Amino acid sequence: MGKNDLAIFGGPKAVQSDPGDIFTWPRITKEVEDAVLEVLRAGKMSDVDVTEKFEKEFAEWLGVKYALAHNNGTAALHGAMFGIGIRKGDEVICPSITYWASCLPVYSLGGTVVFADIDPETLCIDPNDIERRITPRTKAIIVVHYLGMPADMDAIMDIARRHNLKVIEDCSHAHGALYKGKMVGTFGDVACFSLMSGKSLACGEGGMLTTDDRRIYERAIVFGHYERHHLLTYEDLKDGAGLPWGGYKYRMHQLTSAVGRVMLKHYPEMMAEIDKAMNYFWDLIEGLPGIRSHRPPKGSGTTKGGWYAPHGLYRSEELEGLSVYRFCETLRAEGVPTRPGCNLPLHLHPLFNTIDVYGDGKPTRIANCPPNVDVRQPYGSLPVSEGIQEKVFSVPWFKRYRPEIIKEYADAFRKVIENYRELLPGDTKRSSEPVGGWGMTRMIRNP
Ligand SMILES: *Cc1c(COP(=O)(O)O)cnc(C)c1O
Repeated sequence: MGKNDLAIFGGPKAVQSDPGDIFTWPRITKEVEDAVLEVLRAGKMSDVDVTEKFEKEFAEWLGVKYALAHNNGTAALHGAMFGIGIRKGDEVICPSITYWASCLPVYSLGGTVVFADIDPETLCIDPNDIERRITPRTKAIIVVHYLGMPADMDAIMDIARRHNLKVIEDCSHAHGALYKGKMVGTFGDVACFSLMSGKSLACGEGGMLTTDDRRIYERAIVFGHYERHHLLTYEDLKDGAGLPWGGYKYRMHQLTSAVGRVMLKHYPEMMAEIDKAMNYFWDLIEGLPGIRSHRPPKGSGTTKGGWYAPHGLYRSEELEGLSVYRFCETLRAEGVPTRPGCNLPLHLHPLFNTIDVYGDGKPTRIANCPPNVDVRQPYGSLPVSEGIQEKVFSVPWFKRYRPEIIKEYADAFRKVIENYRELLPGDTKRSSEPVGGWGMTRMIRNP
């Protein structure tokens, strides 16, 4: 067997080197350990002093007035939804391809979701599909900068302004990413960042809410941060101070805050290395048939931050219909960690169709809609979201710029694509396991 024979047929693997720590994330240094131990030894796990420092530094880094730390990104999104005033009967527009926390907390506020389709190139909400989803009940657009790719904020903010809608940016995939030179999270009314340990800014379980709007900040405080109620200035909010209006306790664990402060300090430099590594990888294989990078055009001022869960776009038609399953399986045999798919389309899950969570006698999705209004979206209503699973594949997340190692992975892609014809006869066009998932963990786990 020669060097160019595919490993799946018994040839040598394209990836021969030990990857070392190139995929290791988060990066736990002595500095991180010391910061955690300091909080532990001071007995300050449940205080807020370290958290307040983290918030201040986070707000400065992003260039916004307020940051409010939460115990996870889901809680930050919940606080943001209450913050902008989502209430019974309100609708939010959200992409169907995202992690569920982008929208699901609206249920507990009596609101509901209307999904918009995604753009097949950016994989973010398609601005052209937003406007026709707007009704008199629409309160907000939830934007997700999906897999690190900034959404088309010019078009989205224009729609929001014309229809007087609030915008929540879910930046959980895109910490530090720029849209036309400006950091994501600074466009909408409020932004949320998950800081869980797989995310690019990885602090452990944690989330950050950021805003320039004092009223949103205070509403998020009144909702889930009773220990901060001394900060309230609006009379109507002060009237209910002392107890959390939501009945939730959303304060961040100070071990997370301690980790977060160290991670944030080094984040710009880690992000720059990741950006360099991922662009190097794509530069080596861009132009091969069958695949496209999922990254902004160079020189556009738009960037992907820490390239959370990087993916590529798959063009089966350029490889005579070779399925993405066969493609990924062959790459895995070469030593490349890759899988087809991304998040599953939320609008098809029973929780958005049939489940009655709160005992309303009807599905929660439509529990607070006016009579004769049914916002549910059956199969066929969001075609891009429903078909995207077979058009994307994950690529290795290189956290270190090590060109000679990265090149082996790029060579594997080249080898598979150059030999794709050999793969056609054995292509059953079926997956041996589910494609994508409701969460991302399975797809981003280290090899
Ligand atoms: C991870 C994630 C969240 C939720 O964050 P947690 O910290 O896990 O609660 C929200 N939105 C998106 C897009 C995410 O990927």
